[in-house]
Amino acid sequence: MLNCRDIGTNATEFLSGALPWHINLQVIWHLVRCGNCRLAVIQILTLLRALRRRQARPASDEQVQAWLRALDDAHPHDH
Ligand SMILES: [Zn+2]
Repeated sequence: MLNCRDIGTNATEFLSGALPWHINLQVIWHLVRCGNCRLAVIQILTLLRALRRRQARPASDEQVQAWLRALDDAHPHDH
């Protein structure tokens, strides 16, 4: 089981979807039972949303991969 400190440590990874699914599940399970951590995660979410509104959105991994593929197609390597 994760404790409150684990949730704090993993909160940003959890929100960005970077955690393995079984850890995600444990985080969610903790949030269901723990109002303090739920509040903390909601606060982080609000903060992230506010930050995102001010910044240009960075390219996603998917977008970067698409660009790399497009570059490859434009300049095929000799395999
Ligand atoms: Zn907690």
